[in-house]
Amino acid sequence: MNQDHQHDVAQPPLNSGPIRSVAICPICDGGLCGVRICTGDDPTQPLPDRGFVMCDECEAVWMEPDVQSEHHYLDAQNPECPVCHGGLWAASRWADRQDVQRMGWGDAIDADLDAESDV
Ligand SMILES: [Zn+2]
Ligand SMILES: [Zn+2]
Repeated sequence: MNQDHQHDVAQPPLNSGPIRSVAICPICDGGLCGVRICTGDDPTQPLPDRGFVMCDECEAVWMEPDVQSEHHYLDAQNPECPVCHGGLWAASRWADRQDVQRMGWGDAIDADLDAESDV
């Protein structure tokens, strides 16, 4: 038996993980605190354009890009977007560069943690 195990480096497929992150999670000490942006629960409403920070490991959530501030956890069974309270994955997405700029959170981003290497 000389079968090579497919041993991928822990690299999530595109778009499944944070694009812009503010820190390594201080709670689980391993996850990325990625910036997400609420895309709204109701397509007839204008975009809320509000963001939040979520750890991609332990799903701790911060409502501002500061992991020293108070956090809470999403409901693991029924995670919802903390901004609009729609379904987490339907009503928010990982924020890209433009989103982060628009929210004025650019200064909080730790470029070393970027999924994209361009600035
Ligand atoms: Zn939302
Ligand atoms: Zn965490």
